[in-house]
Amino acid sequence: MTVWLLGDQLNPDVTPLQSADHVLLVEAHGFGERLPYHPQKLTLVFSAMRHFRDELRERGYEVTYLRAESFGDALDDYFAANPGDDLVLMDPPSHGAGDRLRAMVEARGGNLTLVTNDLFLTTPETFDAWAEARNGDGGGDGDGDDGDERYRQEHWYRHVRRELDVLMDGDGPVGGQWNYDGENRETPPDGWTPPEVPRFEPDETTEAVRRFVRDRYDDAWGSDESFGWPVTREEARQALDHFVEVRLAEFGPYQDAMVEGEWALCHSLLSSSLNLGLLHPREAVEAAERAYEDGAPLNSVEGFVRQVLGWREFVRHVYRRRMPEMGEANRLGQTEPLPAAYYSGETEMTCLSEAVGHVWDHGYAHHIERLMVLSNFALLYGADPHELNEWFHFGFVDAFHWVTTPNVVGMGSFATDALSSKPYAASANYVNGMSDYCSSCPYHHTKTTGERACPFNALYWDFLKRNEAELRGTGRMGLMYSHVDRKDESEWEAIRDRAATIREMGARGDL
Ligand code: FAD
Repeated sequence: MTVWLLGDQLNPDVTPLQSADHVLLVEAHGFGERLPYHPQKLTLVFSAMRHFRDELRERGYEVTYLRAESFGDALDDYFAANPGDDLVLMDPPSHGAGDRLRAMVEARGGNLTLVTNDLFLTTPETFDAWAEARNGDGGGDGDGDDGDERYRQEHWYRHVRRELDVLMDGDGPVGGQWNYDGENRETPPDGWTPPEVPRFEPDETTEAVRRFVRDRYDDAWGSDESFGWPVTREEARQALDHFVEVRLAEFGPYQDAMVEGEWALCHSLLSSSLNLGLLHPREAVEAAERAYEDGAPLNSVEGFVRQVLGWREFVRHVYRRRMPEMGEANRLGQTEPLPAAYYSGETEMTCLSEAVGHVWDHGYAHHIERLMVLSNFALLYGADPHELNEWFHFGFVDAFHWVTTPNVVGMGSFATDALSSKPYAASANYVNGMSDYCSSCPYHHTKTTGERACPFNALYWDFLKRNEAELRGTGRMGLMYSHVDRKDESEWEAIRDRAATIREMGARGDL
């Protein structure tokens, strides 16, 4: 039996490997030309695959490692050499991928058996049973598209904590609360600097891939200068240890903060390792639990555990259940092209310039920059959620369809209500409250209209007004619409004019 492992399944402990001696890995290069993928993303995936190949060989596996233009070309070669072989593949999380790969194998005379992907903490069966139980009494259809408050991440998170006995004290949560979000919205004091970011110096293998990526992918978007992502399981574990020892304590309070010149703050930077399989989410959760036992603050530990065990698993399952509709969803009918600044990075808006700059430099921006700057601005601007999804997909080292799509199309763009009951839409007030960006910005965060008024503000009010029919009765939008109701026609005219001007500036690359 041969186990075929994809580039995001790079873990030697997965079940199928325990009873196999032959492994197939395919490095397919053509996909990297479909979009202008960040060079760090391409380098990371190909380098991690080559390191994993070497690790498996050291462990005694026979590894067939094919470099090809496409999976199809690689499978042609593979089945020419191994006619009729039986392959086993862990079911990939991206929609339809397992069936597509099976059809490709069968077309070449082989067999492909899809087995459970054990790189997650929960299975499709666990989630579906939970959703069924919550919605089985006729109160919802289990898809969450009826705004059913019971089908939300927070409930799932508590369920999984109970099931897996994580941070539990008997039947209740340790510390008496499930959620310490209220303690996790601080901004650091002036002069604070975040702990150092661990950087994994590229070795010969990574350097060879980096040269290959430079030569081959002329259109790649982003800089490869700072590359220092973990490319092996060993490095991913070191990154986890470093996070738990050095950054976790301040992760909680500053989780939502943004500081000029700082791209990482106290975030774990573990998403690429988790998504490639280098690190199992169980290891991340267990490390955080041990840190709590050793005295790490509960608000930080719980905040981190919620991201990994709650959000990450939740988006994976919601995506699974809501595809393919989610891939096309555009509930608010937004069609504007993304502002030019997302591609050029050139804008006078400090927040946008910082966030796009972080993506260009590192293939990474932390969660609040993703949600409250990059997708919030695109949402208010009226940008097409699918162009935004594509932008995230090629720009981020941790982007894979199963995780980017629910976050961008669902959470960030509110193109479907599968992830939240109201849009994450906010004016400059939010950015100013959670960052120091506005103090150095030539735009005035307190102004809505007129010269140098912050673009977030007019776009925010214009967004609420444009989408009133869709949003007024949704979720917890009452307070926002009570402010909308207080504006008179002359204010709306000025807001519409300013919003139109901003869109023209955005299209011209003049923001
Ligand atoms: P931390 O802030 O340290 O969080 C710890 C871990 O929790 C992360 O490594 C991640 O594995 C998990 N996590 C937290 N929130 C989420 C979430 N909403 N969905 C899935 N996992 C989560 N995450 C990706 O892995 N890939 C993406 O392509 C991606 N795109 C996003 C796009 C938008 C618009 C938004 C709002 C969020 C996106 N996220 C994505 C989720 C989250 O922002 C990143 O996982 C996180 O910023 C990664 O940085 P970190 O490892 O330092 O995370």
